[in-house]
Amino acid sequence: MRDTSQPRIDTIINALLAPAGAPGVYARTELFERAIEGLMQMITRNREPAAEVFTFPPVMSRGLLETAGYLKSFPHLLGCVSCLRGDEGSIRKAVEKEDWVEGLGATDLVLTPAACYPIYPLVAARGAVANDGQTFDVSSYCFRRETTHEAGRLQSFRMRENVCVGTPQAALSFRDRWIARAETIAKQLGLRYQIAPASDPFFGRVGKMMALSQVEQALKFEMLIPVRSEEEPTACMSFNYHQNHFSEIWNLRTKDGNLAHTTCVAFGLERLALALFATHGLDVPRWPSAARQILAM
Ligand code: ATP
Ligand code: ZN
Ligand code: MG
Repeated sequence: MRDTSQPRIDTIINALLAPAGAPGVYARTELFERAIEGLMQMITRNREPAAEVFTFPPVMSRGLLETAGYLKSFPHLLGCVSCLRGDEGSIRKAVEKEDWVEGLGATDLVLTPAACYPIYPLVAARGAVANDGQTFDVSSYCFRRETTHEAGRLQSFRMRENVCVGTPQAALSFRDRWIARAETIAKQLGLRYQIAPASDPFFGRVGKMMALSQVEQALKFEMLIPVRSEEEPTACMSFNYHQNHFSEIWNLRTKDGNLAHTTCVAFGLERLALALFATHGLDVPRWPSAARQILAM
């Protein structure tokens, strides 16, 4: 049952986000950003002490994402940066045409689809990591060419991820620690949640099989929180064990010489903020005091 004491999600989105001319693309209001800021500070307080921090830009090397295998798994979600090329004359000619878009050519950049993609090649380039694992706290604006645009499914959104590269045991226990931490956070924020097995939105028919096997092997879990409705809660966080998938690609090794295993724990910042407003309403002074204190709101 929906908590009828709180406004519907459409009302909440109208109050907090302004449409910016394309579906799933919004301008954020000050109040919404205060919640995001509070969430970011809270994640910072929860990260492991040795975590190394990187903030990535919203674009990344196309070559690195190709090597990561993104085009095999998620070609339907990818956005590539295209530009007009050539000398002044040919650029002028292109923009004067009615269909100037025809003159565009792909560049060496793509829009970052998840915050953790750039970290694996960066770590691999430094050599082997300690057996007990090395941890990272990374963030990026992300782009996904989503095909539906229900509340909380944006094309452009921020992702914060905590990543572990280490032995299989180190990577798995990192994920378990973070699931426990995430549950504590959700409780403190007064959010109703469930942790459920999940799969990635892999492309095509082969992708459906990959998704099944991902669930079977319990590689991905999501924290689901009611945002649009109780019946269809929204994935606000994900806990992903990649086994040696990225390590094989990047030759990521632990000091013992073995291929490393990797885990990433992703926070969808806009979705978490929407979950807070959907649960507690738009009137922040009436939020539970524990949530307000944690978020400094
Ligand atoms: P979904 O299940 O909604 O399709 P996903 O499983 O593809 O999402 P992940 O790849 O695990 O999502 O991304 C990590 C987190 O980023 C998600 O748990 C979610 O909070 C957030 N996220 C993913 N896609 C979007 C989006 N289109 N808009 C807003 N947040 C998103
Ligand atoms: Zn990740
Ligand atoms: Mg999902």
